[in-house]
Amino acid sequence: MKPLLTFTKGGVHPPEFKAQTAGLGIEVMPVPQELQLILGQHIGAPCTPTVGKRDEVKEGGIIGEVTKGLGVPLHSPVDGKIKDIGTSTHPLRMSVPSITISVAEDASAPVYEKQDWHNIDKAELLKKVHAAGVIGVGGAGFPTHVKLNPPSSSPVDTLLLNGAECEPYITADHRQMLENTEDIIEGAKIILKILGISKCYIGIESNKPDAIEKMSAAAQAGSGNGYTIEVQPLQVKYPQGSEKQLIEAITGRKVPAMALPSAVGVVVQNVATAKAVYDAAVFGKPLYEKVVTIAGKGIKRPANLLVKVGTRIGDIVDYLGGLQPGLTKVIMGGPMMGFAISSLEVPVTKTTSALLFLTEDEVDTRPHSQCIRCGWCLDACPMGLEPKEIGIFVEAGKAEDTAPFGVFDCFECGSCAYVCPAKRPLVQFIRMAKMKAKRP
Ligand code: SF4
Ligand code: SF4
Repeated sequence: MKPLLTFTKGGVHPPEFKAQTAGLGIEVMPVPQELQLILGQHIGAPCTPTVGKRDEVKEGGIIGEVTKGLGVPLHSPVDGKIKDIGTSTHPLRMSVPSITISVAEDASAPVYEKQDWHNIDKAELLKKVHAAGVIGVGGAGFPTHVKLNPPSSSPVDTLLLNGAECEPYITADHRQMLENTEDIIEGAKIILKILGISKCYIGIESNKPDAIEKMSAAAQAGSGNGYTIEVQPLQVKYPQGSEKQLIEAITGRKVPAMALPSAVGVVVQNVATAKAVYDAAVFGKPLYEKVVTIAGKGIKRPANLLVKVGTRIGDIVDYLGGLQPGLTKVIMGGPMMGFAISSLEVPVTKTTSALLFLTEDEVDTRPHSQCIRCGWCLDACPMGLEPKEIGIFVEAGKAEDTAPFGVFDCFECGSCAYVCPAKRPLVQFIRMAKMKAKRP
């Protein structure tokens, strides 16, 4: 195997907890009676509904369009009827506009015809990615067609596919790399064609040796005809899957503060997004399903589930046999960067990668105390920031003065909070500081 690469500054090694689901193949969850689709699935303004109450909708049909700014259309994941256009509970924004669909009992899945993407020019491929509502499904939900069309002032020469999946518990990308291997490689080639470049590296951490082996063989078979695709094994270190750390680990290039990866000639896409690009370009299939890891001791039956976007967490819990005694916390996403949720009414979105049902012994509930100035958070921060100072300033009511400590370079990875012996809620402090401090 090639030498394992990693990024240089900071990083932590939380327990992986992946064994619970890593061996569980992707299982298709039956469609529940109702879906609830949040209109703001991506970064940017939410979609405006293009349907009205009681309208009939078909699987794959558009139900929301972007009328201003960045964004992509939203599609119905099922045949059904619009039950309501109202609001839905959201883990971050409390209440957001949403569309509720009653699923038709006699629904039949549409047939998507396979097309040879080699015969489609890059402008048309880009249009297909946009029309299919593809966004970065592994992260913040940035519209993919925008990322694949970088400014001419920042020429790109390298595509990185992110298969690091460095968050504890989550194995959804691992399973996709094992089960949708060729689709991901084809997706990478489609992205290379759109970008007009030839080189792609796929970064996978060494705790997924089966994925490294399978993806390496497929990458080799898929290379040629102007494309070079190579798997790069990585050390296991959090937050390796964040863009800047992955770029440094694989290419050695350092993205300057506040700049985008294209500033150093790189575009990063998640492996699951490459699969969505493949579905969009080859089948014209919109993005309305998601592979989600359901894990933790608080759920009866852990799983990697393929669910329709809009499936409520409560329906997933029912399907998996219910909750276990001692459930203490439910997290949407991973334990490092995810968000605690207080209602099982919250629906899955295009960016949901995991739902964790954690019991008392899986959660640290000790109260936080004063900073003892040990400096561990500084050592852990992959961005070289000063989280301890940000926390102290926020507690002192001086959140607006935190910009000099790099608050706007923080991508909320949680490494600082993870190592803090005083259990200080440093990420919450940082989020508060971001709201009040002025950008330099
Ligand atoms: S959450 Fe922010 S400050 Fe803390 S380690 Fe991560 S990047 Fe650094
Ligand atoms: S790790 Fe915690 S206690 Fe140590 S300096 Fe940072 S904030 Fe203070």
